[in-house]
Amino acid sequence: MKNRLETIQGDITKLNVDAIINAANTTLLGGGGVDGAIHRAAGSELLAECKTIDGCPTGEARITKGYNLSAKYVIHTVGPIWREGKNNEEELLRDCYWNSLILAGENNIGTIAFPNISTGVYHFPKKLAAEIAIRTVREFLKNNDKMEKVIFCCFDEENFSIYYSSIG
Ligand code: ADP
Repeated sequence: MKNRLETIQGDITKLNVDAIINAANTTLLGGGGVDGAIHRAAGSELLAECKTIDGCPTGEARITKGYNLSAKYVIHTVGPIWREGKNNEEELLRDCYWNSLILAGENNIGTIAFPNISTGVYHFPKKLAAEIAIRTVREFLKNNDKMEKVIFCCFDEENFSIYYSSIG
């Protein structure tokens, strides 16, 4: 289990994995943060494919091709906006990780990288978000031998140190 989980610090668009996860918004039509970076790196064909999908509710996931990325696929998931934790945010964040992993499995994806969903402009507390992310991925890996590697790709120092102190 341990060697199937990895923490790195860097730009998720540069990773050579089967799929990267995008922390998108419900329109799937691009935005700031990691979403903007992924659309810029993948090119305009990604937006064209996203326009054929009728958005995505919070907690769910949708898959597209990766176009100019090294990653063959992008899995778009929509994290919850943190509103004092009173609106099912923890459950919805768990759903993001879980549904992305299920979709990856259905598409025979063996290596994936997650950004720290909802911890940017959506303001989910970073430590709590990391606990949910790590717990959910571990639960998935326990019953899924085909998933070879799950990378937590942290962009900011604070997230990196939270993940690194938890899983190394
Ligand atoms: P959200 O709306 O889900 O909060 P953001 O994109 O604002 O999404 O932030 C989610 C996380 O993605 C933040 O921790 C932010 O530091 C990180 N991030 C921003 N750009 C990148 C990138 N190029 N690669 C990986 N992570 C990134």
